[in-house]
Formats: sequence, C-alpha cells, structure tokens
Amino acid sequence: MTASNLHTWQSLPAAQQPEWPDPEALRSALAELTSYPPLVFAGECDQLRARLAAVARGEAFLLQGGDCAEAFDGVSADHIRNKLKTLLQMAAVLTYAASVPVVKVGRIAGQYSKPRSKSTETRDGVTLPVYRGDSVNGFEFTPESRRPDPERLKRMYHASASTLNLVRAFTTGGYADLRQVHAWNQDFVRNSPAGQRYERLAKEIDKALSFMNACGVAPEEFKTVEFYSSHEALVLDYETAMTRVDSRTGELYDVSGHMVWIGERTRQLDHAHIEFASKVRNPIGVKLGPTTTVDEALTLIERLDPDREPGRLTFITRMGAGKVRDHLPLLLEKVTASGAQPVWICDPMHGNTFEAETGHKTRRFDDVLDEVKGFFEVHRALGTHPGGIHVELTGDDVTECVGGGDEVLVDDLHQRYETACDPRLNRSQSLDLAFLVAEMYRE
Ligand code: PEP
Ligand code: MN
Repeated sequence: MTASNLHTWQSLPAAQQPEWPDPEALRSALAELTSYPPLVFAGECDQLRARLAAVARGEAFLLQGGDCAEAFDGVSADHIRNKLKTLLQMAAVLTYAASVPVVKVGRIAGQYSKPRSKSTETRDGVTLPVYRGDSVNGFEFTPESRRPDPERLKRMYHASASTLNLVRAFTTGGYADLRQVHAWNQDFVRNSPAGQRYERLAKEIDKALSFMNACGVAPEEFKTVEFYSSHEALVLDYETAMTRVDSRTGELYDVSGHMVWIGERTRQLDHAHIEFASKVRNPIGVKLGPTTTVDEALTLIERLDPDREPGRLTFITRMGAGKVRDHLPLLLEKVTASGAQPVWICDPMHGNTFEAETGHKTRRFDDVLDEVKGFFEVHRALGTHPGGIHVELTGDDVTECVGGGDEVLVDDLHQRYETACDPRLNRSQSLDLAFLVAEMYRE
C-alpha cells in the first residue's frame, strides 16, 4: 500500500462534505495539518486491532462511548474527566459481569464532525447552512458562525491533542486505578436512589476485590487502563491530511484516532468514505441501520476486510428497539454463514431518536435498554457473540434522554439540554445501563 493511492476516493461521490467557501484557505489548512505530528501511534492501532480480534472470538467485550458531537468549548478538565470516569465505571461493572476483558474506546478526541439530514436550516424566514460540527462551522445561528471555516480543522486537531493528552495522563498516571473506579461505583450505589438497586452486584465486586487484596494480589493491571480514541471519519480532507505511512510497516494509518467508523449516511459501497477506509490499516467500524441488506453487509466485508483479519472490522448495528429482533437475525446469520467474523456491537441510540412534545430531540432510556436486550437475544439464539455496546453519553448531569432510575421527564428536558447534536445519556443513566446490561449476563 502506498501513499499515492490514498487519494482514490477523490474521484468518487462523497456525501456530507462541507462546502468550503475559500479553496485556498482549505489547501493551506490541510498543508499545515499534514505537517503536524500524529495524534496516535500506528502500533497502538495494531494493538487495538488485536484487542478487537478477541472480541470477535467472543473472548472480550467492547465498550465504545462518548459525545454525539464534541465541542471546542467542552475541552475542559471537568468535562473530560467526568466522561472518562463514567466510561471506566461502566467498564468495571461490565468486566465483572461478563468475566472477560472490556476493551474501552471513547467517542472522544476527534468526534467533531456531524452528518446532517438537511444541508440548510431555516429559522424565522432566515436560511443558513446547517451546523456540521465544530470542525466545520459554529453552532450559533448567524451567517458568520455558520460559514464553513477550514481553520476549524486545525482547531479540531489541537482540541483532539489536548483531550487525548489528558486522557492518557488520567489512564496511565494512577487516577483510573480499578480500586478508585470501584469506589466511585460504590458512591453511586450508596448515595443515589438510582444506584441503590444495584447494591447486590456492587457488593459482589467489592468482595472479589477484597479477596484479591487479602491474598496480597495487586496487579499492575489495576493501576493503569488501556483506553483508545475513536470518531466518525466524515470530513475526508481532514482524515486524509492525518493519514501517514507507518515507518515500521510502510502501511497507511489514519493517525487522527485509533479507530474510525463510517456512518449510516456515508456507507454507500461505491462512494468515497468506504474507499478511504479500505486504504487505512486502523480498525474500522461501519454503522448498519435497519435498511441494510445482506448483500451490502457482505460487500462491506469484501471491501474493508478482504483478508478476513480478526478485529479489522466492527459492525455497529443501530436498528431501533422495535426492529432489532426482526432485522438483525438474517444479517447475522448470513454473515456468519459466509465465514466472516466481524465484531458485532449494538448502538442502541440512533434508531431510537424522536421529537418530544416540547420540541426537544430525545430518546427513551427504556428503548435504549430494550434494543440492547434484543441484540443480546438475537445473538444468543444464533450462538454468536454480542460483542459490545456503542453509546452516546456524557459524565455530566444533563437532561437530554428521558427515563432512567433517576428519572428525567419530558418536562425536565429544558433544564440542562446541552448537546450540540443528539441527546446523550447522562452520568446516572449511563451507569444504569451498565448495571442493567451486567444483569443481562445473569438471566
Ligand atoms: C452518530 O454516531 O452520531 C451518527 C450520526 O450515527 P449514524 O451514522 O448511525 O446515524
Ligand atoms: Mn449521534
């Protein structure tokens, strides 16, 4: 694989790309990005691929989560810490329940670009370009803010770099010690009405840790955490500028993140995004919505994972709670029968979005949980491995999704509705989900 064939996507249709008003400014931003140091090391991408291979074999579980859209003004110690803390708390519970390693991947340090259903937005008779994520334009509804600005691609790089730096500091510097993470879970169980239901499970984990402690076992693995970054590879000019030839292997890696995925709106088989993804060695995810055909899934495997390399390809199904039990079985059965063994994970968010009477875009916690349940049921019936979950969450106490143990009502949505795009599970709802998925392992 050589750098020269990285650009083949440019002759194909590419959906969801920004209309940059100034081509010279774009060229100059991309040239600068090309000279920047990588955000991740290609060897780390290979390591993640090996971890995901274990998921594909049924020997590990993948937890992927974070914001729908990161925002430049969300790059603060508090936001990053709360998000990481929530993911690690979820992972600890899932590790105990599933009795397998949990591979932890954030939708973080690069998740700044959004596909949209319309390219413009009209308010009070004024029509402007739609918000496409902080990497492209501003959220504020003014002509200046909505004008796509390629300087933002550089800001995305710097925002990703400082986020990833803090994540690395927390996960390797002792903050994320398993005993500490467990203590946070005990706080949730003890001090919140929502958490009290999980007392039994939390006690069991506590006993397991106390037993190890009594035996004098204090493994290094408790002290540090392997944590990976991921985002949707949407703005192909940015991803291309961040793609480098790895000096060890001579192969291409998109060093903007460890794993990248292709979204439901850009996974057309003969279009640019799949072409780009086929050229880089990173682990690749593809979202599969309810209209996905067996042929499409098989062709995606052929295009993205011709060598059937375990851990290379992750199918992220997002069918909707009402459809997963009807649509997933055939895909799963035929892909398995073809001999391919991708990782299968469940995104229980994107098939369950609706507009509340208050006008807020929201999701019901019960639908989210039910889609995960359906996903587990389908895998159990076919004897395949429900490899993990992909969720939109934040570590803050926002009110964006309704329901959960500490129930958010439709009338509460306005209180802290802070997302720049889709509604996220808040901290308590995220922990709820982890404990309830953990309980599915006992049923
Ligand atoms: C997303 O993950 O935020 C998203 C837009 O998902 P999908 O491509 O599945 O619609
Ligand atoms: Mn989303």
